[in-house]
Amino acid sequence: IAPKITSTKAIPVNAASARDYDLICIGGGSAGIACAKRAASLHNRKVLCIERSAYKLGGTCVNVGCVPKKVMFGAASIHQILSHDARHYGFDVDDGGSGGRCVGGDGCGGDGKGGGGGVAMKFDYSKLKKYRDEYVRRLNMIYSDGFVTSGVDCIYGNCSLIDERTVQVVVNDDGSGENYGDGGKTTIMTTKRYTANNIVIATGSRPNLPMGEGISEHCITSDGFFDMDTLPDVAVIVGAGYIAVELAGILNSLGSEVHLVMRGDKPLKSFDPMLRDGIDVEMRRSGIFVHRHTNGVSKVVLDDHAGCSKGKKNVTLVCGDVIYGADVVIMATGRMPNTEYLHSRNNRTSSSSGDDNDVDDDNGILWSGNTDGMGLEGCGVKLNSTGHVMVDEYQNTNVNGIYAIGDVCGRVELTPMAIAAGRRLADRLFGIDSRDRIAKVSYDLVPTVVFSHPVSKTIGTCGMTEPDAIRKYGKDNVRVYTSKFSNLYYGIFQTRPEDKPKTLMKLVCAGIDEKVVGMHVLGMGSDEMMQGFGVAMKMGCTKADLDSCVAIHPTASEEFVTMG
Ligand code: FAD
Ligand code: NDP
Repeated sequence: IAPKITSTKAIPVNAASARDYDLICIGGGSAGIACAKRAASLHNRKVLCIERSAYKLGGTCVNVGCVPKKVMFGAASIHQILSHDARHYGFDVDDGGSGGRCVGGDGCGGDGKGGGGGVAMKFDYSKLKKYRDEYVRRLNMIYSDGFVTSGVDCIYGNCSLIDERTVQVVVNDDGSGENYGDGGKTTIMTTKRYTANNIVIATGSRPNLPMGEGISEHCITSDGFFDMDTLPDVAVIVGAGYIAVELAGILNSLGSEVHLVMRGDKPLKSFDPMLRDGIDVEMRRSGIFVHRHTNGVSKVVLDDHAGCSKGKKNVTLVCGDVIYGADVVIMATGRMPNTEYLHSRNNRTSSSSGDDNDVDDDNGILWSGNTDGMGLEGCGVKLNSTGHVMVDEYQNTNVNGIYAIGDVCGRVELTPMAIAAGRRLADRLFGIDSRDRIAKVSYDLVPTVVFSHPVSKTIGTCGMTEPDAIRKYGKDNVRVYTSKFSNLYYGIFQTRPEDKPKTLMKLVCAGIDEKVVGMHVLGMGSDEMMQGFGVAMKMGCTKADLDSCVAIHPTASEEFVTMG
């Protein structure tokens, strides 16, 4: 429930204001960057963005999310083509001995044989990581340069709120910020304060680690996945959401033995049943070991079995089963908002007394007024029970002049959503025409993709699931169209038709005019397919509108405009 907001109008910006900035964005991720740049572009507003991670502008998406994940997805796709698909097209590629294990599943028919004596394929994981990390660093620089050209000031440091117009930043003396992850580093830090008419909280989220013996010591999260230097032989992945499904597919396709541990019976709980059933079948076909109804993990211990390689872990599930000999255990168990002031003794300054309720000795300033929070509570900003910032439809918090955007609000946690929310907010605060003044982002009909691997099982979805539509409109008012076929890409494969991966499609239509309220697809190309159909749905398309569009042939998406 959003807090009651008295006005949707921005705080009027007074050009002659004594404050340092028109706008301060706390957080240099997708949301903060988008908001800061848009604001700076509108009548040269004075904007500051404060980012905690030194020289790592771009936030989760760029550093430990969408971007490196899509690179890994690309690597898995290449491996898939070389080790499985190529031979069906007459290429003779030796997969370097994938041990006969069907690691890809795309129509390999279970034999998993490589080309045998063809062009040798060698894969060097460390090279992939190096190139990927270099690419991410280039993107960090591009964002940094983008701030310079847009006229946005940027400072690296950990930020908290002092009052509704003042923030406090703890910066390293070299200006590089606090260097999270660099535990034990004892850099001298200084504290600076800035004032602004408008403050935007765009601090994002971080992985959530569940409770359990040995979990914090022996498990990693998606952040740790991107730090891995080698491909694990055996990976246990806990969770059944976006991240678990995506990482399981990537590691499996690259050749790891993957165990997916879920609490329920199938992955992707909130998705349409057709997609859940389909991904479940495809995961099993591709050789992922799926552990269902486990109630999660109770214990992770180092394997001390005689002769066992160092660092192997045994994972005990709440249901009592044990998975032995994991090289990595990845917790993909949801995310939590960054509404706390994240610091630990190790990351504290050499000048601090080390007391968590302390005063910075050099500056005599109370740490954020609340050592366990970002100062949000101190300013009266309301958080909900999960710690997310409560906002109304205009991204207003309950405190005038303080706004929140992106993952920290806990609603549709996707990069384009964060960007759109940031831009609309800047338009509303600083735009001049009447449309800008009421700008707000829409959280309805957001198309989204799960980059489940192999490419034959990516998922695209927009709008309501079939059960949700029936609940809303009544069974008699909902009509569903489905299709199941093998993509032409697999037509040439020398495997039995039943072994070829299937594309699954569903249109959920409501009312007499059959308005399309849900669109779901699992199969090759679904990642690129859904954007255009998302536009059509936003425009209120009906089944007849889809039918009136002439198909593009031969593609998979043509099926959506030819369903009978
Ligand atoms: P963030 O990007 O997290 O940015 C917040 C920033 O604030 C961070 O840089 C953080 O360091 C900084 N910060 C936090 N606290 C402070 C503080 N006190 N002071 C200063 N700075 C602070 N979405 C998609 O749309 N497509 C995908 O394919 C996709 N894949 C993903 C894969 C993974 C593995 C993960 C984890 C996420 C993925 N997402 C994807 C989700 C997407 O990354 C997030 O929705 C998006 O990054 C949210 O942007 P944000 O700006 O709200 O938060
Ligand atoms: P999700 O909310 O998608 O899934 C969390 C999963 O963790 C659920 O399956 C949940 O199980 C499980 N879980 C939670 N607690 C436990 C526990 N204690 N033990 C076992 N399992 C547990 O979160 P993710 O972390 O996967 O992703 C976070 C968000 O990031 C996504 O919601 C999405 O918005 C975004 N994202 C988007 C991507 C994309 O656009 N392609 C890719 C990756 C992330 P249960 O189902 O039983 O509740």
